[in-house]
Amino acid sequence: MIDNDTLSKVLYIDLSKKKFTTRDRKDLFEKYLGGTGVATALLHEECPEGIDPFAEESPIIFAIGPLTGVFPLASKTCAMFKSPHTGDLGESHAGGRSAIAIRMAGYGAIVIKGKSELPIYLSISNGKVLFKNATTLWGMKDGSIAARVMRQNEKGEGLRAIFRIGQAGENMSTFANVTTETYRHFGRLGLGAIFGSKFLKGIVISGKQAIEVANKKEYRTLYDKIYNAATESSAMKKYHDVGTAINIKSLNSLKALPVRNLQASSTDEIEQVTGEEIAKNHLARRVACAHCPVACIHLAYLREPYDDDPYFYKTTPVCYDFELIYSLGTMVGITEPKAMLKLIDIVEQVGVDAMSMGVVLSWITEMFEKKMITKEDICGIDINWGKSNEYIELVKNIANPTTEFLKAAAKGVSYASSVYGGKEFAMQFGKNEMPGYHTGPSGYLGFLLGARHSHLDNAGYSLDQKELIKNDLSPKQVVDKLLEEEAIRQILSSIAVCFFARGIYNLNLVSDAIKLLGFDYTEDQLMELGKQIHLNKYRFKIREGFSFDKLEIPERIYETKDPTGKITKEYIKEGLDYATNLIC
Ligand code: SF4
Repeated sequence: MIDNDTLSKVLYIDLSKKKFTTRDRKDLFEKYLGGTGVATALLHEECPEGIDPFAEESPIIFAIGPLTGVFPLASKTCAMFKSPHTGDLGESHAGGRSAIAIRMAGYGAIVIKGKSELPIYLSISNGKVLFKNATTLWGMKDGSIAARVMRQNEKGEGLRAIFRIGQAGENMSTFANVTTETYRHFGRLGLGAIFGSKFLKGIVISGKQAIEVANKKEYRTLYDKIYNAATESSAMKKYHDVGTAINIKSLNSLKALPVRNLQASSTDEIEQVTGEEIAKNHLARRVACAHCPVACIHLAYLREPYDDDPYFYKTTPVCYDFELIYSLGTMVGITEPKAMLKLIDIVEQVGVDAMSMGVVLSWITEMFEKKMITKEDICGIDINWGKSNEYIELVKNIANPTTEFLKAAAKGVSYASSVYGGKEFAMQFGKNEMPGYHTGPSGYLGFLLGARHSHLDNAGYSLDQKELIKNDLSPKQVVDKLLEEEAIRQILSSIAVCFFARGIYNLNLVSDAIKLLGFDYTEDQLMELGKQIHLNKYRFKIREGFSFDKLEIPERIYETKDPTGKITKEYIKEGLDYATNLIC
């Protein structure tokens, strides 16, 4: 890498001693590029084996990549931790200004350990870390208010990133998230709960570092190539115009969209909540992560009258996308946009992963429907499919649980169903609640095999739609394709580019781009590195007790019609057996 690039600096923060230090870790960045590669290596170094994720020594790691601040769409920060939700690898990625703020502050990664005695937030800038009292921010009902206070207290407007948790994080719900810049999230696997366990309310980070490139002329040419592809390609235009919500209509007509806890895979009542209809009737504006010309983040305005003045309206911007319309819409039987936006808004306020919350709500509804729990278990709330006001109350009660049942629900459906039953319709894979794809066996094998048990690990849902709907692929062929895709995605996550730009950043272009930052890797070498990083993640998972044998698969996936008609126990088993031999 280029000699004086501050990317190789890692900031180590100890919350117990209120101390910090910086170390040069060129060794890690030269070996793993950055992002997920470096964060995984740091996790192996910093996370003691078998540790309780909420222990003082349990680390939070953030890492960015060499292209951050240099090329368009290199917008992501990788967060790595031991997940309190699954008990093994915790990884989530967020955009906003998070990555560029870390780069401009002069770091490539941050490691946070220890535990504060009182609520604090961190202010990181000018080579310093200040530990600021956040006692008055702790317990606020709406996490965005805490962010507003931090914004007013700290300098660096326009340059800084602000991370923060909500009440669910403070109460250590294992699917609590961390929000950055109001509309982006380290969403999955419970980073917010780890913040909460450390009394860490938030982080404000900013800086004004310069970044050098090896050859300015070549840089300009490559920059223009990427920028033009980002602004002119039809794929990126789709993300800008309607966003990922465009998939609602097509998945519903394919019979691949989970409805009412996957009791069905399509609904006749979809019309008002398709991406196109929401954009037409409710879209207020689009926003973008830093250094992204695409702007795929869609905000609807929710207009509600105040109770005491019917002519005076409160207007709230609410971010929506495909996964939110699925999880807090069709999965809980809500197909009226305003009701859905209100539910999304409260989920944002308490600070939880929306996909997990949607699956938890739908599992609870089915438990209640089947009389496996009582009204008292859910604080007297009379829930049923589509009843958004009742779901809003339930969300508040899960973020602040008072009954034993809701305390279990705040740990996700895998845990709650192990105590209360209902495993056969607890829609989790590797203990992570499912995303909105009932597309076929590749989708499910993808969730089960992915290092994070996320649809983004290997995009099995896409393989179902491109191949399995028309053709036959054996389970082994599917697994080979999933593992290849996951290896490529390790490279994209290590240079920390947005996955929406995966069609632009092929390995050939990645090789050219990182060369300008002093990294010399051929396409083949990148592919090998991707495989190695993936295995490093699995080494951590297995070290912490993960095993393919322990995976539980809800029966529901075999009962509900899917577009391929190929989801069978035999197919999934053959795929998993084959993968076990390859990975373990
Ligand atoms: S495409 Fe969307 S998520 Fe990706 S960097 Fe741009 S605004 Fe952020």
